Amino acid sequence: MSGKQGYSITTWRFRLRCRHPEWLRLTQEFYNQIEKFYYELLLEHEELWSLNSQMTLRELEFLSLPGKEKRTPEVPLPWEKVPPYFRRAAANAGIAAAKSHISRGKNTPGRKAEQLNSAAVFYKGMYRDFSDSEITLKVWNTEGWQWMRCRLYGKKFPPEGQVMSPSVVFENEFLMLHVPVKEPTSDAASVKVRMKEGRNICGLQFTNGDAFAVGSVWDKDGQELAVRFFKGGSEYGHHCRRVLEKIEKSERSLGDMHTGRPNQKYWMHLKHLGEHYAHRVSREIVRFCKEHDVGVIAVPKYDKDYSRYVMGASGDWSPIHLSMRIREYLTYKAWQSGMIAIEVNAKGISSRCGKCGGAVVGVDKMTQECVCENGHRCNRYLNAARNLTKKCRGQFDGKDTDEGKMDEKPVKCPGNVGN
Ligand SMILES: [Zn+2]
Repeated sequence: MSGKQGYSITTWRFRLRCRHPEWLRLTQEFYNQIEKFYYELLLEHEELWSLNSQMTLRELEFLSLPGKEKRTPEVPLPWEKVPPYFRRAAANAGIAAAKSHISRGKNTPGRKAEQLNSAAVFYKGMYRDFSDSEITLKVWNTEGWQWMRCRLYGKKFPPEGQVMSPSVVFENEFLMLHVPVKEPTSDAASVKVRMKEGRNICGLQFTNGDAFAVGSVWDKDGQELAVRFFKGGSEYGHHCRRVLEKIEKSERSLGDMHTGRPNQKYWMHLKHLGEHYAHRVSREIVRFCKEHDVGVIAVPKYDKDYSRYVMGASGDWSPIHLSMRIREYLTYKAWQSGMIAIEVNAKGISSRCGKCGGAVVGVDKMTQECVCENGHRCNRYLNAARNLTKKCRGQFDGKDTDEGKMDEKPVKCPGNVGN
């Protein structure tokens, strides 16, 4: 096992309660005004566009602030006594927005600025007494800057996590504090190294039934060590349907009067349902893989047209549709636990028998069982998961004869370094 270290950054989300939520709103508005000021300033100064973000900030500060020597700046910032760290965070947000605007090539001279509404990021100096149960923020209430204590509700920070600058986010009626947390990961050995070491592989297949997914773990000798169905799909579908019925009912009763807003809480409920199940399932998968000492998790990669077709046919609130989010969560959770999730081309994983390699000659749509030319019967999704595991191993051993090339790129992993 290679001891190479990496890290991942994940966002911790807390519910925030405070005495004056309106002050947070005012602070955010002020933040966006400064953001907009620097956004426009950068768009007007084409000579700065090629600089890196740090240099850009320095040049924009030179243009807008008197500095120590009390010069008269060319384009003075129209507000006085803005805490430097507040201004700087907002300026960085403006620079990032301008840079993405410029890089999209959409800039035309004299073009009006877009509406900027980034969440206010609180750099050091703008908060104190920060733990996973409270934070004291420096906020703007139009009369001045005030320290305001806020209570936080959420899960505890990981012991080895490094807490980064928090931001206040308005999620409809909820006030949230988003906190990026940087954590070291135990094992960042690359996929190739893991395969060479003969680490166990778990192949996963997603389904649209009661099981969100099925996993099959194999060792390097081609022995199946464990199988697990990750259930809850029917329950999830049922909950979604109940909420959708409420939305439909309320839309009917409102007739043409509705503006979309009255149902906001139901749509949020749906969103949270999805997040809840995706977290639960991805956590269960990671725990299962950990139990069986898995090094690499293989998830199927389909071509875009096929994915779009399947997702479209099964609907927005189906278990298979949630698989996108499960993959996303699984990727970073696996990484945090020292495993790597990779995508393996799904071509052919359903047409062969996972046991003998013979052709699949029939699928019973009622029982979801497939049968091969040699009479082996198996759940069709488990069969696909088994084939995916084999395929993943085969492609690294160079034994794979399939034209589907291995996609060696680990699935998008937030902020990792190393391999
Ligand atoms: Zn067979």
